[in-house]
Amino acid sequence: MVMPGLVNVHTHLAMTLYRGMAEDLVLQDWLNKLWPVEEKFTRPQTTALGVSLALCEMLRGGITTALDMYWLPEIAARTALQAGFRLGAGPVFFDPPGADHLSQPQRFIAAQAFFEEFGGNPMIIPCVQAHGTYTVGPENLVKAFAVAQQAGALFQTHASETRGEVEMVRKQYGCSPVEHLHHLGLLGSTTVLAHCVHIGEDEIGLLAASGTGVSHNPLSNFKLASGVAPVVKMLKAGVKSGLGTDGACSGNDLDLWKAMRMAALMQKTIHKDPTVATARQMVRMATIEGAGVLGMEKQIGSLETGKLADLILIDMNRPHLTPLYDVYPQLVYAVGRDDVRTVLIHGRLVMQDGVLLTLDEEKILAEMGAFARLAAG
Ligand SMILES: [Zn+2]
Repeated sequence: MVMPGLVNVHTHLAMTLYRGMAEDLVLQDWLNKLWPVEEKFTRPQTTALGVSLALCEMLRGGITTALDMYWLPEIAARTALQAGFRLGAGPVFFDPPGADHLSQPQRFIAAQAFFEEFGGNPMIIPCVQAHGTYTVGPENLVKAFAVAQQAGALFQTHASETRGEVEMVRKQYGCSPVEHLHHLGLLGSTTVLAHCVHIGEDEIGLLAASGTGVSHNPLSNFKLASGVAPVVKMLKAGVKSGLGTDGACSGNDLDLWKAMRMAALMQKTIHKDPTVATARQMVRMATIEGAGVLGMEKQIGSLETGKLADLILIDMNRPHLTPLYDVYPQLVYAVGRDDVRTVLIHGRLVMQDGVLLTLDEEKILAEMGAFARLAAG
């Protein structure tokens, strides 16, 4: 079967470096464990290695576009270009000292350098990455948003991932993260919010009315026990919603087939209603709706004349995919990433019959093994 490539609307690619390093912890302890390690190992070479491994994994799983948020975005973008992968990436804004050691003024210079290097490149979707409303103050959030607007870039931030985060923001600003962003004028059609787990009806209304995009990351949310996002309500209200894997430290893999299945099952369970979160809706979220979150729905996300050729071929002639009565439930409840055989991005063949053509997978795996021995030591 041929279908559009999957669109992963939230991830932290280079975090494959630390996959499995901090496990079974609450979010704050998890961050406290990972941040010092990132501080130590965030260098161009290791970042390129982490991104390369993530690209191998995503291509094998039929993902052809991803929106990354991580340190050294220029390394991620260069690595993606070499591999022929379509990547959303861009300058990071973060108030505490970051693993990239940039001062606040340097962040603005780095942003301009990023846009100068990658602006107009059809394979790079520029996106300013402000970590969250609890890690970036209002003044810098507004400035980061202005940088994005000026460059014609997207603006992404984490919002309402955990109850703790919502309480923290409420205490500081007297409102929820989504309301805070709304008051600052930062919601809109070029804004992407990761998670939106703990949001109410009013906030869903704000997201729908402003055309703000949301990334739902079921695996990360369940594993970190963050909660269950009101996906059915958001879809009903017309909120632009895509699916993400989040980083390999929280997910722990970059598998959108699993995300589709988990999202559907969880919504059906909490609503006690098997008719909600349909297979068709999940496939749309992983393709055309995800493309819409990135402002790319006219170029990618569906098989239509005149669109860019981001295509995947799936081997449907397998025991677990037989017989085939309806393609949508098969894709969500039965297909796995190992069924993806061939991948084209922007018309270029990047995986053919299970062989990656633009990445030296064997070398990447060996280098990652060596890195893990160093990091664990
Ligand atoms: Zn995230």
